[in-house]
This record gives sequence, C-alpha cells and structure tokens, in this order.
Amino acid sequence: MIPVLALVGRPNVGKSTLFNRLTGSRDAIVADFPGLTRDRQYGEATIEGHRCLLIDTGGLSEADHGVDALMAQQSWQAVQEASAVLFMVDARAGLTPTDEWIAKRLRSLGKPFYLVVNKVDGVNVDTMIAEFYRLGVEAIYPITATHGRGIQDLMEAVLGGVAPDEEVLAASDAGIKVTVVGRPNVGKSTLVNRMLGEERVVASDLPGTTRDSIYVPYERNGKQYTLIDTAGVRRRGRVTDAVEKFSIVKTLQAIDDAHVVVLLIDASEGLVDQDMHLMGQVLDS
Ligand code: GDP
Ligand code: MG
Repeated sequence: MIPVLALVGRPNVGKSTLFNRLTGSRDAIVADFPGLTRDRQYGEATIEGHRCLLIDTGGLSEADHGVDALMAQQSWQAVQEASAVLFMVDARAGLTPTDEWIAKRLRSLGKPFYLVVNKVDGVNVDTMIAEFYRLGVEAIYPITATHGRGIQDLMEAVLGGVAPDEEVLAASDAGIKVTVVGRPNVGKSTLVNRMLGEERVVASDLPGTTRDSIYVPYERNGKQYTLIDTAGVRRRGRVTDAVEKFSIVKTLQAIDDAHVVVLLIDASEGLVDQDMHLMGQVLDS
C-alpha cells in the first residue's frame, strides 16, 4: 500500500514549499505569514521510483483556540494516519518551545518522524543545526525547500524506511479490486454487505471502530474480486463524529490500490463539495 507522509511543524517553516516541490504542484498555498493554509492538502509524489502520498498541514502551535485549534486538530489527525512524519523546523528561527512540544507529542503518539531543518540557505549548516539535536534525534536532514538542496537525501532515507503493509498486500491480491468510496454515511458498508449477502462489514455501532479500509474476498459468476470498503462509519447518535471518522488518507490509499472505484453519493443530499473532491481524486488516480 502506498506510504503516506505527513508534513508537520509550526506555521511558516516551509511545509507547503516542500509539498509543492515534491508533488510538482502549485496547489498548496505558500505564504509569508502564519496560518494561511487552513486545510490539509493531499498530493502524490514519485521520488527515485518510489511513490508516496503527501499531506501538507496547516501548522501546529500550542494555542488551543479558534482557527489554530482547528488546524492543530487536522494536523494531528494527519499524523495519526501517516506512515511517517516529516517534522519541519526553521533553521533561521532556531529551536523554539513549540518545536519541543511537537517533538514530545510525536513521541507520545509513537510516530516515527524525520527531523527536517529547512531554510539552511546562506547559513553555516553545521552551526545552525547543532541546537536541534536537543530534540533527541539521531539524524537531522538539513534542506532548502525553495531550492531543493538536501531533499534527495531526505527522501531516500524516508522512503527506504517506510515498509509496505504486508498484511494488506497479501489480502488484497485476489482478482479485480473494487473500492467503494463516498462520504460518511452514504451507505458504503450497506452496499458492500448487500453485494456479499451477509453482514460482513458494518461495524459502525461498535466502540473503537477502525478507520481502516476493509478488504473482503468476493466471488461472482466464477470470477474472483476483492471488495474494499473504505471506512467512513460513525457511531450511533454521534453525528458530529462523522466527519472526524472519515479518513481521507485511507480512502486515497484504497483508491490508489483499486482497479475500479465505485463512488457512492447520497441522493437525498445531492452532490456536495466532498463528493466532487473525491471524484477529482479518483480521476487523478
Ligand atoms: P508553511 O507555513 O510551513 O507551509 O511555510 P511556507 O511553505 O508557506 O513557507 C513560508 C515562507 O518561508 C515562504 O515565504 C517561503 O518562501 C519561505 N521558505 C520556504 N522554504 C525556504 C527555504 O528553504 N529557504 C528560505 N530562505 N525561505 C524558505
Ligand atoms: Mg503551508
């Protein structure tokens, strides 16, 4: 399964610049003031023949109110869904208490992260990066996101270290893979269950329902398929959870993994932005 890398760090350290460079897109908003990139951005990159999904995030700070809180929540969700994290800091700004706080949280989440010190252009690299070893890392990757310096070394280390998920690979081998995607609650699991003729998939009322996609072998007219139900389930009576449970990362991975995608839409609600966004992802893939 395609690895997912999340770019996290304080606002303005150069996350979007790196994202744009790696994905070859101009999509992520790059700006000279903090807080502009409100939403997570997703993109695909191919580096040295390795493909990966990248998530650009809005920026982390300790502030826990307003826009900052929302951005932070999104960033932490991206972290949780990622195979590895590129934790970016700013060489010019030096080590800040927020950087230390982010490192601590990443450790408590048990996520492997690579410490990327950006903006080392025009400075003495060794001197600039020394203080960042206080974050307790073994390796530091100094880069210049704007000019591409150091990025190849970084990506070789990262993509060499992210192992594919063997279990999913093995389970997903059989026949034509059909992924069912759609917003939370449009009826994906219900549809898959109907196709299977049994209650194999729905786990939505169980506590701790996972966000992972579920791969189910399926045979029809002597042909072998694998149905992939992307999670988007919610717990009963907790509508506000629906959006949080929706995992765009798992959905993108399942789309990437599929031969055919079924995009399910809720007729009673009509087309909404998220449907169009998903459709765009399917077409891109
Ligand atoms: P983000 O908030 O972490 O996404 O940061 P951005 O990518 O929006 O970058 C913030 C600012 O830093 C922009 O003005 C960039 O042009 C600048 N910047 C990004 N990378 C570099 C770099 O390697 N060197 C220098 N000097 N500036 C950079
Ligand atoms: Mg940004």
